[in-house]
Amino acid sequence: MTHALPSYLNADAPGPWGVYLQQIDRVTPYLGELAYWVETLKRPKRILIVDIPVRMDNGQVQHFEGYRVHHNTSRGPGKGGIRFHQDVTLSEVMALSGWMTIKNAAVGVPYGGAKGGVRVDPRLLSRGELERLTRRYTSELNALIGPDKDIPAPDVNTNEQIMAWMMDTYSINQGRTATGVVTGKPLSLGGSLGRRDATGRGVFVVGVAAAADAGIPLAGARVAIQGFGNVGNAAARCFHEAGAHIVAVQDVTGTLFNAKGLDIPALCTWVNQGKPLAAHPEAERIPNDAFWDVETEFLVPSALEQQITTANAHRIRTRIVLEGANGPTTPEADDILTQRGITIVPDVLANAGGVTVSYFEWVQDFSSFFWTEDEINGRLDRIMQEAYTHIRDTAREQKVTLRTAAFILACERILKAREMRGLYP
Ligand code: GLU
Repeated sequence: MTHALPSYLNADAPGPWGVYLQQIDRVTPYLGELAYWVETLKRPKRILIVDIPVRMDNGQVQHFEGYRVHHNTSRGPGKGGIRFHQDVTLSEVMALSGWMTIKNAAVGVPYGGAKGGVRVDPRLLSRGELERLTRRYTSELNALIGPDKDIPAPDVNTNEQIMAWMMDTYSINQGRTATGVVTGKPLSLGGSLGRRDATGRGVFVVGVAAAADAGIPLAGARVAIQGFGNVGNAAARCFHEAGAHIVAVQDVTGTLFNAKGLDIPALCTWVNQGKPLAAHPEAERIPNDAFWDVETEFLVPSALEQQITTANAHRIRTRIVLEGANGPTTPEADDILTQRGITIVPDVLANAGGVTVSYFEWVQDFSSFFWTEDEINGRLDRIMQEAYTHIRDTAREQKVTLRTAAFILACERILKAREMRGLYP
């Protein structure tokens, strides 16, 4: 049987989708008879590309390009965030949707994988323009999304307010209030306690587990974090509270370094006031590229894809890479780090805390019965720890990396479901 892929799925194309396909190829030899179904993971189920015309404040109409990709729904409805970024491409959204399929299966939440994005720099829009863009984009997705079909959530540059506008727009179009159509909503609109910090908290929980396996004490451990958004910020607070020293932080405004550890609470207050991270006065500012030379026990890439590449993987001096971002390490860099004895806790496990609490939010919305923060954090920690242990044990048994082990377990779950459901017609 030949498997010629449509041109837009071109496996040779560089970029995130090519990386995702390489990861699938790497896991295939471990899937036994289930490998028969692996082609389904190489083709998104459906892709929607939409034009989003927005009336700008100056009266002109500007057009933006938006996407929503349903990668796989074998195990449940589509689930995954919406990214607003000037560099968003279809390849990126496709890869992110594939990683959602793997991630949801790796931690066992009952979803398939989906992702959306709009090619826009939201910092250049007024609040009114951002709201009109969000509402028109949501309307264009109307046929695709729904509480039992596909449930968006926040991702890079999207937040609770944007989720509230999405929920409201969908609800108006449906003629009923449907809180369960998106997660990551404000608490007052069916949001969940613990959701905002869930991804960073999950990064920390698996970091602690990996450190215990490697015999690294947390107190005094040095941590470098790339990205100080929703993920990096919460992860920094967790590590700081556990007695680790956050020695370097980088975001779009620059890179801060302090060998004794940055004052994370002060930095959080500073950034929450809307000030540029790199302008914080109580730290040394270092060149962005020097971030990769900082010696640490933990390196936490929590920004965008393809940050750790052949260009810097040889220089990185750390023990554990915790992938808070999706797709931060290229397959070639993955090999270099592994050969150098550095453990990588892969994105599909490390950052799964966000979608796990999204799942809790969705369950709470369905039952209109809300849990305490302790219940949420306790359940989150347990799911993350169990997923880590299961993946680590598989890695040891099969003598593979944690990434390959996570992909093995996830692909087995997805492809068994695929096989049991059978092909229609
Ligand atoms: N955007 C987050 C991720 O990449 C969360 C997705 C969700 O909660 O659905 O995992």
